Amino acid sequence: MELIFLGTSSGTPTKSRNVSAVGLKMQNSKSWYLIDCGEGTQHQILRTKLSLLHLRVICITHIHGDHCYGLPGLLASASMDGRKNKLTIIAPEGVKLFLESIINATQLELSFEVDYIKAEELTGILNLGDFDVGITDLSHRCPSYAYNFIEANIKPTLNKEKLLAEGIEPGPVWGKLQQGQDVILEEGRILKNDDFLEQTREPRSIVVCGDNDTPELLNDITPKSDVIVHEATYTQHVLNQVGTKPQHSSAKQVAEFGQQNQIKNMVLTHFSARYGYNEKKSPSINDVKDEALKFYSGNLFLANDFDVDHVDKQGLMSLSE
Ligand SMILES: [Zn+2]
Ligand SMILES: [Zn+2]
Repeated sequence: MELIFLGTSSGTPTKSRNVSAVGLKMQNSKSWYLIDCGEGTQHQILRTKLSLLHLRVICITHIHGDHCYGLPGLLASASMDGRKNKLTIIAPEGVKLFLESIINATQLELSFEVDYIKAEELTGILNLGDFDVGITDLSHRCPSYAYNFIEANIKPTLNKEKLLAEGIEPGPVWGKLQQGQDVILEEGRILKNDDFLEQTREPRSIVVCGDNDTPELLNDITPKSDVIVHEATYTQHVLNQVGTKPQHSSAKQVAEFGQQNQIKNMVLTHFSARYGYNEKKSPSINDVKDEALKFYSGNLFLANDFDVDHVDKQGLMSLSE
């Protein structure tokens, strides 16, 4: 599984960070999923291998502009590219109103159908192709959600020991069983593929959160999650100065939550524009990183635009070169 960060700034873009958007896909698959779509996301996509023709689902975490102002332009471009496949958008209800009013006002005729799913009404787990998707309520100035992407369609593996023990040597029979077919042997014996296929690992899960001031709301889903992508808009010192009204989290808060829940891999993103890359200036993004490292000893990442993070089959995340 791969996460492709397309925007990692909160509120406003900076020269080096665009506003929120992140792509998610299975390795070696063209089909992909977009979580949030801040203004300019389509420009960021142009600098990656992702194609609007293969975008399957857009999930919007909340109605704030830095998470959804990029939608109309992105849809218009997909239409001009000749997209035909239906696009699913899961979002709070206001996003549908926002999009429909722009589509009507600008007389935009899309070349494809849009299927809206209200985030407010999404309960349980919904299969969306490569992923089963669940949703968790967060705490922010408006309704905000976390999307939990659970790997679907894990290919079962052949139990080779069992086949050999039953006298079935490697060959075409193994191939047919692996493909999910039952096989009738020459002697008339029937081999059921179910008897020889097994799941050898748990599905991987990645949770991408919207803006949130209470990480503990994720307590129920974290035990089964391999990766949590969470905002860390401020350091604690700055959050204390700004106050709690914007309802964002500090790096300390998220790091403590990650440590308590023993989260394997944690990605911080959605940084206030005040945190630049220049270490000589204060504050800098290093302040956010240093604070998080003080409280969390797991596999920590601070997202940058265009980072591609790879999650292997054991659920361990690494930054692709
Ligand atoms: Zn935001
Ligand atoms: Zn927000």
